[in-house]
Amino acid sequence: MSRQVKQVAVLGSTGSVGTSTLEVLLGSQGRLQAYALSAHARLDLLVEQACQVRPRWVVATDADQAALFDWSGLPDGTDLLVGDEGISHVVTQGEVDVVVTAIVGSAGLRGTWATIEAGKTVALANKETLVMAGSLVTELAARSRSTIIPVDSEHSAIFQALQAGRRDQVARIVLTASGGPFRHLTPDELQQVTVEETLSHPTWNMGPKITVDSATMMNKALEIVEARWLFDIPAEKIDVVIHPQSIVHSLVEFVDGSVIAQMSPPDMKLPIQYALDYPDRHPGVAARLDLSQSLHLEFEPLDIERFPAITLGLEAARTGGTTGAVLSAANEAAVDRFLAGELRFTEIVPLVRSVVASHSFEHHPTLERLESLDAWARKEVSRCLCT
Ligand code: MG
Repeated sequence: MSRQVKQVAVLGSTGSVGTSTLEVLLGSQGRLQAYALSAHARLDLLVEQACQVRPRWVVATDADQAALFDWSGLPDGTDLLVGDEGISHVVTQGEVDVVVTAIVGSAGLRGTWATIEAGKTVALANKETLVMAGSLVTELAARSRSTIIPVDSEHSAIFQALQAGRRDQVARIVLTASGGPFRHLTPDELQQVTVEETLSHPTWNMGPKITVDSATMMNKALEIVEARWLFDIPAEKIDVVIHPQSIVHSLVEFVDGSVIAQMSPPDMKLPIQYALDYPDRHPGVAARLDLSQSLHLEFEPLDIERFPAITLGLEAARTGGTTGAVLSAANEAAVDRFLAGELRFTEIVPLVRSVVASHSFEHHPTLERLESLDAWARKEVSRCLCT
């Protein structure tokens, strides 16, 4: 067992995964220490967190907000950095052992990129990084000898289950999906779904964007693309099954028919801690499975007609290139419009599909090209809504 203290930078510390990461750090008995925290909004919470975990740095990525904010509450020994340069500074420091990239959406790409470029270990919670730029990011990680450890619960489960065999012995991986709150609604009922109904997720407590993605199953679509790059596995070997209890976080089937699953109550603190302690394991703060109570686990096949997002995810995993970036950006923009009441629930995925279909596909895009397509896809969503 390693006794070494790990220095952790948390990009996006005030979001859902970020706050869970702080709980893991605080519960680690000094094993995991905060080196830096970053936030875009909620700067008051950032200062509160800094007082709790005493990082060397806090980074406010929005320079305008940072200039208006009163930083007098920062503890002694913690200094402020601002903007993307602040992120680049902290992730390249020699003291940093692992960087948690928990910034939601495509805004998380640059920080993750800088971390991988610096050859650091990434605890990857920003799925857009691999969805947008999977081939570029995995090539960069191979060059810089950076290790990417997934924090997404499904991918953490697959990462753990894969250790039961060799890569050439894997028949397929199966992502589990809770199915969201609407999996039993009729098409007519789906048309009438409100923002409030969408935001009440049955098992996981997440931010609004991921909660909407979980209801449309776009979250699972993005996870298919994420898995394709993370595990270098073709789309044909990726399946999705509905598992409403969210206890089995995903499964790996080997060629002999053996299926290895990872199980635990739905609590992000476990995959976060696994990624931070990897390859060690330690007692932690996550909820534990109680097998003294009866436990019913259900698995249902996925109705792909009801969840057309899954087809989009499989297509993006198959085609690679620019498709993932457009899919992710168009979806982010469409979800914003839904949350603002400008788009129906059932219009999100068709709108995303039409934006993906109308983009000019490239097999080997640059990072700059992907970022410009990201901006294009968002504008395209607005344009479709105006006409
Ligand atoms: Mg997930």
